[in-house]
Amino acid sequence: MNGQRLGLGVAVVAALLLCGLPLVVVVTDEGPAGACAATAPSTSPRAGKVRPVGRWNTEQTGHAATIVAVGRDRGVPARGWVIAVATAMVESGLRNLPGGDRDSLGLFQQRPSQGWGSRAQILDPVYASTRFYEKLERVDGWERLPLTVAAQTVQVSAYPDRYGEFEHDAEQVVAAVAGVTTITNLPGASLARCDSPASIAASGWTQPLQAEVGSGYGPRAGRLHAGVDLSVPRNTVIRAASAGRVVWAGCDPSTGNCDIDGSPTTSGCGWYVDLIHAGGYGTRYCHLIRRPDVADGDTVQAGQPIGLVGTSGHSSGPHLHFQTHQNACPDGDCDLGNGNSVNPVPFMAARGAELGEEVRPRQTT
Ligand SMILES: [Zn+2]
Repeated sequence: MNGQRLGLGVAVVAALLLCGLPLVVVVTDEGPAGACAATAPSTSPRAGKVRPVGRWNTEQTGHAATIVAVGRDRGVPARGWVIAVATAMVESGLRNLPGGDRDSLGLFQQRPSQGWGSRAQILDPVYASTRFYEKLERVDGWERLPLTVAAQTVQVSAYPDRYGEFEHDAEQVVAAVAGVTTITNLPGASLARCDSPASIAASGWTQPLQAEVGSGYGPRAGRLHAGVDLSVPRNTVIRAASAGRVVWAGCDPSTGNCDIDGSPTTSGCGWYVDLIHAGGYGTRYCHLIRRPDVADGDTVQAGQPIGLVGTSGHSSGPHLHFQTHQNACPDGDCDLGNGNSVNPVPFMAARGAELGEEVRPRQTT
């Protein structure tokens, strides 16, 4: 298999999916699951089986299937299905609740007193979903808004920060009930922005994403800046720099709420991922926009999508803070600390995976 051709094929498919164009390229290669990896191209998703997905049982995924079916019948783009399902996850836990705060009812906790409809109407999941989509479609440019903003504009909720927490779950449930393997098989469903994947060097290493190195490794404001900052737009796909194992994928406890934009006065890495690679090497990826697409204990391949760029934690704008480490597991106990961090620029260059915007030509012998 020619790796470069496979990479290009995946990139072409991903670009088509993102642009919502008719899919004319069929790629049969199995790629890694997750954002930007089309595993089973599909232009007209069939209804999938209603089955439990993660922590969501069949009653809950059944309601998600209704929400998706209503959206599809209305011609709402798949991004809307994800927004609607995430909203119902927050509002009702995907349950058709007979009550709630004040006169709130049903899947979306809509209120008769606020003009959403009668009690009987709101308790009909098809009606409730239809009303949600009607309001969503009136929001200018809703397809490109962060999920939290789109959902909050429709719901005017007391908990606006909570919707984004459920984006990953909503994508998984929507993919399952729509009968596709991953959310990227549904054109436009994810805000993920796919660069063409960098080629994997003979060393087995690759760039986590393509961007110029901004702030470099070294002392900064009296502390060690233990990595490099790669500035790219929100939702740019971050890839594992080499094959390895996930030893952390979560929200930095010192950040607190990772689902909101951080600032220079916020502390910690926000949503972040730590990987351990063969040879005792480690890599860290900070400030993701939402929960990473990998979990503790997962094994990853070089170039596999692991999450999306954001600005959570100690961060003044969307970028990837990327660290490299050596001797990270001296006694079998792995720890990515400042003490074993090394400058990523020479580290990656030495492995033929130089950081920067240029994609180098690859030998395909
Ligand atoms: Zn940084």
